[in-house]
Order: sequence, then C-alpha cells, then structure tokens
Amino acid sequence: MKAIILLGAPGAGKGTIAEGLKAVSALIHVSTGDMLREAVKKGSPLGVQADGYMKRGELVPDDLIIRLVETRLAGGGREAAYLFDGFPRTMEQARLLDDCLSRLGGQVDKVFLLDAPRDLLIARLAGRRLCRKCGTNYHVVNIPPRREGICDACGGELYQRPDDGEATVLNRLEVYVRQTEALISYYEKKGVLLRVDSSRPRQQVVAEVLRMAGALAGA
Ligand code: AMP
Repeated sequence: MKAIILLGAPGAGKGTIAEGLKAVSALIHVSTGDMLREAVKKGSPLGVQADGYMKRGELVPDDLIIRLVETRLAGGGREAAYLFDGFPRTMEQARLLDDCLSRLGGQVDKVFLLDAPRDLLIARLAGRRLCRKCGTNYHVVNIPPRREGICDACGGELYQRPDDGEATVLNRLEVYVRQTEALISYYEKKGVLLRVDSSRPRQQVVAEVLRMAGALAGA
C-alpha cells in the first residue's frame, strides 16, 4: 500500500491539484474535508459532531478523523495507492497514519508541500466555488465555469463553502500554523518531503508534481 500526501495551508490548492492528479493516475483520492462535508450533508452522527468545528474553522478531533480514515483504508488492497488531501493535519494523525499503513504493509511514499504566499491563499479562498452535486472546484477569476454559477462537468449549482467567509478563513490559516505546520519537519526528517511552488497556474503545478512523483500508480 502506497500513500502520497498533499500538504499545505487552506487555499494552497490541495483539492485542485488532487483533481488534476486523479485524472491522470490510478491514485485513490482521500479528502477528509470532502468526507466530512458529505457526513454533515447526510446528518450522520459524525456529521453532527463535526459540523460546529468546521463552521468555526477549527480541526475536528483526531479520534473522529482517524476512525474515518481507517475505515476508508480497510477497503483497499495491498496494491492500493492513496492520495491524501487535507490529511494528516496534526502530529497525532501523522503518527497514527504511519501505524495504520505499516499494519497494512505500506508507508508514506512522498509528501508534496504546496507553498503559496498568504495574500494569494486568502484571494483563492474568497473566490472559491464548489459544485453542490459533484464537488468540482472553481474560482470566480482563476478557474471560472463556462456558465456563471453552473458546473461544467455535471450542470450542478455552484456554491461558496460556509467556512470560506473572511473571519473563518483567517482562523483556518492560524490553525494551520498552530497545528499542521509541524508536519513539514516531521516529513522532512523522514526524507519524503518535496516542496512545490503552488502559486503558479494549476496545469503547471500538476505537471511538476507528476514529474517529481515519478512512477505514480497508473500515471
Ligand atoms: P478542507 O476541505 O480540507 O479544507 O477541510 C475543511 C474542514 O474540515 C477543516 O477546516 C476542518 O474543520 C475539517 N477537517 C478536514 N480534514 C481534517 C483533518 N484531517 N483533521 C481535522 N479536521 C479536518
């Protein structure tokens, strides 16, 4: 079992780059943010517990996240290659991911740190729109849909994530510095961290990540 991680602040482009990589590889995309939003939409017990944290831009407690990811990984075979987007976000999650992967005969293969200046992160989050039906990412300026407010892929309605409002965005950036940034040196010490300038257009970033990743599953 292989694992590739996309690490970076909110707005660094993790979801967008994951979509680009998914389109050209056999990687299985695991976005804890998407899974949690789905749980909130359904009103499942996990969704009910996670909702408040997400609205405030805080992290959902580790035990809930670990259980979510473990269940997801249990379904994959030894040959499965995962692309994690938005996970891990704390040291505890990173350590538990290592344990979980080693139990399943795998390890973290590469971690791409998507790097972009803070003002760009804020502008990206403010203009971000998502499809309500299929989750495809847009941006009002950088990645506009062909018809305003409508998803190119499925015709679904585009919406702004409630946690992309200004005050919550600032909190999410602070939470990233406080709780997630420590993972950079954790993975650097393991020798698996690769830095990518993600302030460039999406196609360039996807191409560079693919080049740096070498033989990605099915790429
Ligand atoms: P994202 O879509 O990755 O920006 O995640 C949206 C929100 O979901 C975050 O602000 C957190 O509240 C929650 N979340 C997503 N992934 C995690 C995680 N790995 N650990 C804790 N909370 C998470």
